[in-house]
Amino acid sequence: MGLSNVYGVPGLGKRGRARVIDGKAIAKAEREAVALAVARLVAAGGHAPALATVLIGDDPASAVYVGSKIKACEEVGLSSVHRHLPADASREQALALIDELNSDPRVSGILCQLPVPAHLDGTELTNRIDPGKDVDGLTVASAGRLALGLPGLRPCTPAGVMAMLEHAEVRPAGRDTMVLGRSNLFGKPMAQMLIAADATATVCHSRTADLAARCREADVLIAAVGRPRMVKGSWIKPGATVIDVGINRGPAGLVGDVDFEEAVAVAGAISPVPGGVGPMTIARLLRNTLQAAQSNVD
Ligand code: NAP
Repeated sequence: MGLSNVYGVPGLGKRGRARVIDGKAIAKAEREAVALAVARLVAAGGHAPALATVLIGDDPASAVYVGSKIKACEEVGLSSVHRHLPADASREQALALIDELNSDPRVSGILCQLPVPAHLDGTELTNRIDPGKDVDGLTVASAGRLALGLPGLRPCTPAGVMAMLEHAEVRPAGRDTMVLGRSNLFGKPMAQMLIAADATATVCHSRTADLAARCREADVLIAAVGRPRMVKGSWIKPGATVIDVGINRGPAGLVGDVDFEEAVAVAGAISPVPGGVGPMTIARLLRNTLQAAQSNVD
């Protein structure tokens, strides 16, 4: 299966009234497509593309995230290069490490795990990554390319959401879409991708007046606020597609930004948490690493 042909897999289930968009199944198909492409590359005498992960400090959650990305690389046949700097690493050391990885021809993609220790500037470190190796798609150059409609590496989570919409046969062109949240990591690039797909895209945030009414206007509602179950069933237009990006850990386990039980009774299609957007993010990271190896983005 080619990379452009991963949407024919079963990934939609029924639960309540809304179709459930099964991100786990879609991500599995994407990972399999990457694995096949890597195997072909290696069989043709090439090297397996390598993802370099940079971890600075001892934040346990960051270590877990990096570990899962390395494992995901191994599962699809990508190489990984892990570099760990101590929590007191200097700015110069951190920048020198990224420069070293930028110039290492074996490294196709570089990911600097955020957050970094407080004395370092995560934005500065991210921006030091060569745009051609920017597999998180978060450098100024990558953001500019997205905004201008130029080819480039796209941020993994919004790109994963676009793939989920495509898989669910939800076409954003001409529809009212709403992104709840305006972060550089997700909300802003998500809106850019929706505009590029000919949607009418609105971005709402903590200062938006009458948020519930705004949400009710959306044919496609994408929530990324980091507030457990904030989006209620009454906020959703009947039949709308709801994508829940939120990851909130609490006493009830992992929950999204959408009250799933209420929303599933109103929406036409909905992505769950867990098993929705989360698996797509890692799948897109793998795909971006392959894309970085295959194309010269500069
Ligand atoms: P963020 O940087 O904290 O941004 C949150 C956004 O939500 C901000 O724009 C904020 O508005 C807005 N917001 C917060 N409270 C609000 C409220 N009560 N009403 C309206 N808007 C509100 O977060 P993020 O990095 O974008 O992440 C958002 C969520 O997505 C988190 O749960 C995160 O864990 C999750 N996430 C998941 C994945 C994944 O792979 N599934 C990837 C990335 C993020 P202001 O700008 O006005 O403050």
